[in-house]
Amino acid sequence: MDIMTAFKTMEYGPAPESDAEAQAWLDTHNRSFGHFIDGAFTATETQFETRNPANGTLLAKVGSGSAADVDAAVAAARTAQPNWEKLGGPARARFLYALARLVQKNSRLLAVLETLDNGKPIRESRDIDIPLVARHFYHHAGWAQLLETEFPGHKAQGVAGQVIPWNFPLLMLSWKLAPALAAGNTVVLKPAEYTPLTAMLFAELCMQAGLPKGVVNIVNGQGETGALISGHPGVNKVAFTGSTEVGRVIRRQTAGQGKKLTLELGGKSPFIVFDDADLDGAVEGLVDAIWFNQGQVCCAGSRLLVQESVADIVLAKIKARMGKLRVGSPLDKSIDIGAIIDPVQRNQIADRVAAGVAEGAILFQPDIAMPEGGCFYPPTLLSGTEPAMTVAQEEIFGPVLVSMTFRTPAEAVQIANNSRYGLAASVWSENINLALDIAPKLKAGIVWVNGTNMFDAAAGFGGYRESGYGREGGREGMFEYLKPTYLDSLKPVKLMLNNDHDTKNALSETVDRTRKLYIGGKQTRPDGGYDRPVFGPKGALVGQVGEGNRKDIRNAVEAAANASSWAGVSAHNRAQVLYYIAENLSQRADSFASVLKSMTSARNAEAEVEASIDRLFHWAAWADKLDGAVHNVPIRGVALAMNEPMGTIGIAAPDEAPLLGFIALIAPAIAFGNRVVALPSQAHPLAALDLYQVLETSDLPAGVVNIVTGDRNALAKTLAEHANVDALWFFGDAEGSKMAEASSAGNLKRTWVSDGMARDWFDADQGAGGDFRRQATQVKNIWVPYGE
Ligand code: ADP
Repeated sequence: MDIMTAFKTMEYGPAPESDAEAQAWLDTHNRSFGHFIDGAFTATETQFETRNPANGTLLAKVGSGSAADVDAAVAAARTAQPNWEKLGGPARARFLYALARLVQKNSRLLAVLETLDNGKPIRESRDIDIPLVARHFYHHAGWAQLLETEFPGHKAQGVAGQVIPWNFPLLMLSWKLAPALAAGNTVVLKPAEYTPLTAMLFAELCMQAGLPKGVVNIVNGQGETGALISGHPGVNKVAFTGSTEVGRVIRRQTAGQGKKLTLELGGKSPFIVFDDADLDGAVEGLVDAIWFNQGQVCCAGSRLLVQESVADIVLAKIKARMGKLRVGSPLDKSIDIGAIIDPVQRNQIADRVAAGVAEGAILFQPDIAMPEGGCFYPPTLLSGTEPAMTVAQEEIFGPVLVSMTFRTPAEAVQIANNSRYGLAASVWSENINLALDIAPKLKAGIVWVNGTNMFDAAAGFGGYRESGYGREGGREGMFEYLKPTYLDSLKPVKLMLNNDHDTKNALSETVDRTRKLYIGGKQTRPDGGYDRPVFGPKGALVGQVGEGNRKDIRNAVEAAANASSWAGVSAHNRAQVLYYIAENLSQRADSFASVLKSMTSARNAEAEVEASIDRLFHWAAWADKLDGAVHNVPIRGVALAMNEPMGTIGIAAPDEAPLLGFIALIAPAIAFGNRVVALPSQAHPLAALDLYQVLETSDLPAGVVNIVTGDRNALAKTLAEHANVDALWFFGDAEGSKMAEASSAGNLKRTWVSDGMARDWFDADQGAGGDFRRQATQVKNIWVPYGE
């Protein structure tokens, strides 16, 4: 054979990784596991099987966590928590370093075990999953070390309940555990039922590291066990990664329980290829975007948007490349695509593909060798799809790429954002100006420029919209496991719904004191045509306000949507508008103080007006100072963390401090580019309504602030349910807080609720601390590699 023939016919030989060590490790446990609770492995009554998806063989049996198991784990975590936190950051850092080192020392065993249990190629578990696990523990050992200086005024949440999926079993465990432990929380974690094994090996590493018992508890089980953890009253914080569907269930389940919740959910991430992209590079990126981990990746680049002028070339290149992908034994080191996690999942992928074809998509699957037996699915391309097709909207969670075309950058953005999800996006262009113009316009938590699936512990990961909320990694990820210390000292709010007075006491000037709603820059009569009385401290009628209804809320949300250009106004200009509002309020300080006095018996009305003016100055000052960050990620390039506005925020303002509480909430929201639909104090709404006179004369564009009065909890419910409201801040009673959280599950808007506690709005921390900045913004990480 001549060299040319040899070269052309060259075939891969088998390159199997031995699984002997991993099998031996399973044998040492008799292939049977219960849970890891209070520092020891426990036995369980009922078990389920975990199998190797590549060949169907039984790997081990694993415990099904019962309510008693979860109770025991939470109790152990509760007992361990105070001492774990008291140890201090630097001492906890040592444990995290030890875990990082142990992960590195056992990396091959962990990688093989992961591949056996999950079916992912060893190339990926060895080179991506496990190194990132170690990196995560190292990075967070650093945060533990720096906790006291970098997060002053904060403390641990307490016990974190964490539920993770099967696609990156140990990596997701590390993303959950590392920040939780660094911040001083203890943990009850449930691995996914398909992939519990590396978590069990990790439990052994915790023992080897000498981690105090009860700090990490791992309870195995199915969805019901997960629900027992997330709903447990002894759990203070819930972190979940999985499907949007289950995320919604958990949002409703935990509503009103006072738990901080982070959700990392599904996605249908766009992969945008412009005609000036390095097309071969883009195609190679696409292989990583959609065929990495068999496409079972929440941020998979599963929607290819390619510029029409190069679509034919790109599709031809993709098909050619697909013909070279190797599907087979995940333990073979030269395999590209391993096994699908389970036949149930594979059938679901097949069904979704069939539905796509029925919708009119053109199916392409390369003619490549497929393994006999095992759970495999070929790399698949569905081209000619339209944005509205189910297959272009719904997550397939498998090795299936859906492609469509666009003509202009604006159209690319429009199609990319035509999704209920917003996890990640990839932009391919050799024109950096174009790429960096597009990136901020994409509704996604992560944008990769000329790259894909880049992850690092230093850069936050998490989504917009129905991809969930909260970030994992980086400084922002640490805040998810911390809370301001003052929260523990707040007292329950006093109910001030003083609307049951005798209207016969009406003042003669009542008619003059009827305030309308303020929607889209105009004073508007309430849709229902009714007013509601406002009473003074002694029961006298001091005014009337509009009885807003759901239609008024809808109009207000629409007005807010129409004011979206506010997000693009320069921070300098927004600051100026806020200064102007402050100045105008100060000119009317006396009249505001007298309105406050008429409604409440508060003796500090003048002080409240003064504090409100000061608060406006405060947020005007901040408007152009909420800088992002340039993360130090281990690539040749940078990850730019940009603080972006949430969009439209619904705000239910508190009864305590009716003017200051209102301003304390709307000012940071608008300072950072949001629009608001605000519900003033229900008991004392007049002063907030009078603000319209100030806003009108302050150059604030119409629709940026909308004010609706009425039954606050009912109106807040409409806001919570509204799909075009992006976040909801609720400061009122406990019942309303619960409603706000439960009703927000529809579009999974981020909520910030008071849980029925009253804060001191005059206090710099409670009334204007870092929480306000973080709630008003979401972080987008834009990865920009450089080099030719
Ligand atoms: P995926 O589509 O990634 O399998 P799921 O959302 O079904 O995602 O599962 C992710 C994790 O959530 C798994 O550990 C699963 O056991 C758990 N889980 C499923 N249902 C619930 C529930 N109702 N409450 C809490 N956890 C659940």
